[in-house]
Amino acid sequence: MTPSLLRLLPPRGHRLRLELTVLMALLAVLVTLGVWRQSKESAVEKAHALFDMKTEELAHALVLRVGDYEQVLRGARGLFAASDAVTAREWHAYVQELNIGQLYTGLQSFVVLRVVAARDMDRFLAERRKDPGAPKLSLKTDRSAEHYVVLSFIEPPMPADRPITGWDFGINPTRASALAQARDSGLPTATAPMELFNLSGDTSRNFAIYIPIYRPAEPLRTADERRRALWAYVGSAIRTDSMIEGVVSGLQPDMAVDSMERMAFSITDVTDPALPLPLYDRGFTQAERAADAFSKTLTIDVLGRKWKLEALSLPSPVTRRATDIPGIWTRAVALFGVLLTGLTHALGVILENRADLRRAYAQLAEREAELDLLAHSDPLTGMANRRHFFLVGANDWSRAKRHGRALSILMIDVDHFKAINDTHGHGVGDETLKALTGTCRAVLRDCDLMARMGGEEFAVLLSEIDLAAARIVGDRLRQAVAEMRVPTMGDVPLSLTVSVGAASLCSDDQSLDDVVCRADRALYAAKAAGRNQVVISEEEDLPLFATAELPGKGG
Ligand code: GH3
Ligand code: MG
Ligand code: MG
Repeated sequence: MTPSLLRLLPPRGHRLRLELTVLMALLAVLVTLGVWRQSKESAVEKAHALFDMKTEELAHALVLRVGDYEQVLRGARGLFAASDAVTAREWHAYVQELNIGQLYTGLQSFVVLRVVAARDMDRFLAERRKDPGAPKLSLKTDRSAEHYVVLSFIEPPMPADRPITGWDFGINPTRASALAQARDSGLPTATAPMELFNLSGDTSRNFAIYIPIYRPAEPLRTADERRRALWAYVGSAIRTDSMIEGVVSGLQPDMAVDSMERMAFSITDVTDPALPLPLYDRGFTQAERAADAFSKTLTIDVLGRKWKLEALSLPSPVTRRATDIPGIWTRAVALFGVLLTGLTHALGVILENRADLRRAYAQLAEREAELDLLAHSDPLTGMANRRHFFLVGANDWSRAKRHGRALSILMIDVDHFKAINDTHGHGVGDETLKALTGTCRAVLRDCDLMARMGGEEFAVLLSEIDLAAARIVGDRLRQAVAEMRVPTMGDVPLSLTVSVGAASLCSDDQSLDDVVCRADRALYAAKAAGRNQVVISEEEDLPLFATAELPGKGG
């Protein structure tokens, strides 16, 4: 990455990190809400299915319970079928044995109703009074009929303050209707909801069941034949609230405790749809119907009648908790989201730090390069400096010495440079130095190392060049400089000359310094000889090269 691009990174990297973190947090919130919604929906669905199941279970248990009552009545009918001379004591013993209080919750009393023709009434009463266990029987009615349905036995016996034996059941329309239906159908029949004799208070919503007993060996094919053969009924009064209590407590434990508390329901006798008769209400009419409440209605057949069971779910802490408070999965997803957001943030920080570090390294490298350049070059001319010259030159010198190759040094000094400064000013002096280095570079090969040794003095290291060739190169340089023109403030451009000293690597040399010293001395000699000339080092036993014939100012 380039430094300029890197510099772009801080704001972008920071924003990107923030955006990623916010995006991840948003994503986490969305997923959590989704899972919560989903789990809420499935919790509601589950609760609804459970509610429906409980309602059906309740209806089923009700039918079974009534079936139990029917069975016990059929058994009692069997007792009378075997003998029509059952005494009050025998009936008492039979009912005792049934243990109805324990086994048939809701079953309130057992009655035997004898159907007695008006003309046989006195005989019947006289007969019954002979039964030592029976209370003194007399007909209690306010009608005159062909047949009476007389309460003959009742178990458990009524309290003494309400003796109801002898009561004519035909006078009560609700009972009379069920009795007629039972008689004609031969089937156990329930009454519509009604008030029972033996209960006080709000007891109007109870019912009774009757099952007919016919005289044996009589035809029972038609309703008429059944009417003629009718001899008695056994029946039971059912107290609805006890019956429901028994039904509910008989449900599966998980059904009963948990769900029944969350359920309001009512039972209505809808045998006559035009005249619905309430039978039971378990908080149904009072229930505040919540917007999200479940409801279910079922109709069941109960011993010749139709009951409508309406159920309604009640808001309960259990349901609320199940649907409103995020479940384990929702919480797990939320936690995961928080973790992911944190990780994204941390990753962003790490990446950002790494980008910062890379930027810092790049800046450092840039600064190092600058420093390196400063350490190795001369700021004015851009040439290598003295330090760099000796650093690189020492290597070249070692290599040349090792391989026995030629190597030469030229020392160049501007003639009368002080005068240039004095005449044209320091600025022009500087420009002159720059122009001079440009001219020299053009003459030299790329591999030649030229350095500014200080002031207006330069050195050139020529690899693979012997003294003779160095002299030629030095002279080319001298000539090129002499031909050079530097613009000045005045009309006439300035011209200048250089003196050059040359020396070459000798077999005795110990370091580059030795060659440089000889070149220096040659330069000094060139100056002494009148400037604007090339002098080669004496130690090489080569003649001085006078350059008098070359153009130049020096003298
Ligand atoms: P000679 O022919 O004997 O070498 O005479 P000279 O005047 O060149 O020698 P001298 O050593 O007396 O003067 C060198 C001058 O170079 C003195 C100094 O002010 C000038 N000089 C050194 N460095 C710079 C520079 O960077 N810029 C400018 N303009 N002048 C410089
Ligand atoms: Mg000089
Ligand atoms: Mg000088």
